[in-house]
Amino acid sequence: MTTEIESVLVENRVFPPFENLVKHANISGMDAYRALCDEADRDPEAFWTRLGRENLVWTKPFTRALDESEAPFFHWYADGEMNVSANCLDRHLNTPVADKVALIFEADDGKVEHVTYRQLHARVCEFANGLKALGYEAGQRAVIYMPMSVEAVVAMQACARLGIIHSVVFGGFSSKSLHERIVDVQAVLVITADEQVRGGKKIPLKPAVDEALGFGGCETVSKVIVYRRTGSEVAWKAGRDLWMHEVCAGQAQTCEPVSLSGEHPLFILYTSGSTGKPKGVQHSTAGYLLWSLMTMKWTFDAKDSDVYWCTADVGWVTGHTYITYGPLAAGLTQVVFEGVPTYPDAGRFWDMIQRHKVTVFYTAPTAIRSLIKLAESTPTVHPREYDLRSLRILGSVGEPINPEAWMWYYTQVGGERCPVLDTWWQTETGAHMITPLPGATPLKPGSCTLPLPGIAAAVVDETGEEVERGKGGFLVIKRPWPSMVRTIWGDPERFKKSYFPPELKGWYLAGDGAQRDTDGYFWIMGRIDDVLNVSGHRLGTMEVESVLVAHELVAEAAVVGRPDDTTGEALVAFVVLKRSLPEREEAMEIAKQLRDWVSKEIGPIAKPKDIRFGENLPKTRSGKIMRRLLRVVAKGEEITQDVSTLENPAILQQLSQSV
Ligand code: ATP
Ligand code: MG
Repeated sequence: MTTEIESVLVENRVFPPFENLVKHANISGMDAYRALCDEADRDPEAFWTRLGRENLVWTKPFTRALDESEAPFFHWYADGEMNVSANCLDRHLNTPVADKVALIFEADDGKVEHVTYRQLHARVCEFANGLKALGYEAGQRAVIYMPMSVEAVVAMQACARLGIIHSVVFGGFSSKSLHERIVDVQAVLVITADEQVRGGKKIPLKPAVDEALGFGGCETVSKVIVYRRTGSEVAWKAGRDLWMHEVCAGQAQTCEPVSLSGEHPLFILYTSGSTGKPKGVQHSTAGYLLWSLMTMKWTFDAKDSDVYWCTADVGWVTGHTYITYGPLAAGLTQVVFEGVPTYPDAGRFWDMIQRHKVTVFYTAPTAIRSLIKLAESTPTVHPREYDLRSLRILGSVGEPINPEAWMWYYTQVGGERCPVLDTWWQTETGAHMITPLPGATPLKPGSCTLPLPGIAAAVVDETGEEVERGKGGFLVIKRPWPSMVRTIWGDPERFKKSYFPPELKGWYLAGDGAQRDTDGYFWIMGRIDDVLNVSGHRLGTMEVESVLVAHELVAEAAVVGRPDDTTGEALVAFVVLKRSLPEREEAMEIAKQLRDWVSKEIGPIAKPKDIRFGENLPKTRSGKIMRRLLRVVAKGEEITQDVSTLENPAILQQLSQSV
């Protein structure tokens, strides 16, 4: 039996790097990139030692970068000591960065607040002192359930300053999911807000915390600290509940950062739950921060003059690495946004880029695909209506970006002047792994291109043999790297089983399928769990979906397999059109067009047997398509799986109807 995945998509467009970017880039040209790769491959220990010494501020220097004695529980910089918050804030205080704007916070209603590094440092210290006064200390766990706000960044940084391990739960999660996470990490403290404001609506947060704590099993929680966002009336439990501003009141604006081992746990964060029940990924202090900072410098080519904007929520790893930690360690000015991309209209992102003169913009394919759909139906919110000339770099993260969505981002948003960086990484990897470099890598739409220096990525079969170029297999990382997941909180066995299966020689198994082309470029083909099997051909979901998305009528598509008597598996395609939902006759006509299109672009084997139209697809709250649910829907069965991270349950009903 073969586990190989066949590649059926041909993509020949190549975009060389722009000369003006190459000239000033932190990694300038492919030779500079290769030199760093060679340095890392020759002597990884020396490479990681050099980066650790040159880029982080230590209170006690480390003597060894990597300790493999307890593999696959790898330890990095374990005998050194430092503090993450000091590396993000204090390090800038005696430099010109101190009075630079750290955060440009834009509220849902458009109100803007500027916070300098010095001010942010003072606010973090006040809150940390308040937490200290309440008796909290290093090693304890705090759950943070907050809206996008300066206060959320302050809360995370204050925890890091004291060595309190934070676990951020996305504000859109229900009290039930919140409860599970509070219990799982045995939190001593919950930090929340009265309400959050998104798209002009107030959404309660504190009531969800009250409800979660009421479910029982949360006796470890001694305080709930509440940031007053809207001032609406909230229920109050005397002795347990405290206002954040009262916790801070009268506290000193300096607070000695706690000196912590490089391996001290920094945070626990649950994965998106696309392929199963979310995993509590634990990250550490030094290694995590090092790779967060290096990728800011290398991938985003961080420059003092940048205005950087990552649109993620701090509830996801992208919001940890590329909002709370990486950009601050790099001393950048960044935009933090409370609202949603479609309020007051679908031009909000472009309007904000124009007003704040954003230079580096980082968002998700799901946002791009929905904005394409909206821009094409409402010309006034099309990016061409805005002045986006400040942009120099565009990034994408979270899912494969289909080549046609990539091209739209590149031409319509970037004006064919900005590289689109398709950054492949995971909650578990902590930071970017495979990604283009803006001043070096020639780009191919749909490819995350090449691994960063020091990242030993490869594509192998189930025995660990590297597969031929052009053939798909399992994406693995053959050497440990500093920002790798340390364990699954409370479940080291699941950690070993999920990421380090015995057949794979101790390499990290990512769970994604990939192929490399003749230039060595990586193309993510989809999740291993989602591989399609038609008449003996194993296909990744990405390629068939990309062909569907390339059709002029289609905004989004997801493809899954369903058992079939003749072909083993038949393909079922779930399609969101750019236009409104078609009626029966028309739906049949469009379905036929799409089938013919796939047949022509790929071949008859990939032709979907069943096509279903919906207004949306089932997605995680981080915006990823949940194909595992679509597989159940395609079979016409009841869903019994974990749906705690599903954003839009109602959509499953709509998609259960065949055309
Ligand atoms: P779970 O692990 O619970 O199933 P998840 O894998 O969706 O959830 P995340 O860690 O948020 O949780 O997402 C990582 C995954 O997202 C990757 O394994 C990959 O499948 C996908 N991904 C992220 N970036 C890219 C990218 N640039 N190209 C292709 N896929 C990507
Ligand atoms: Mg995953």
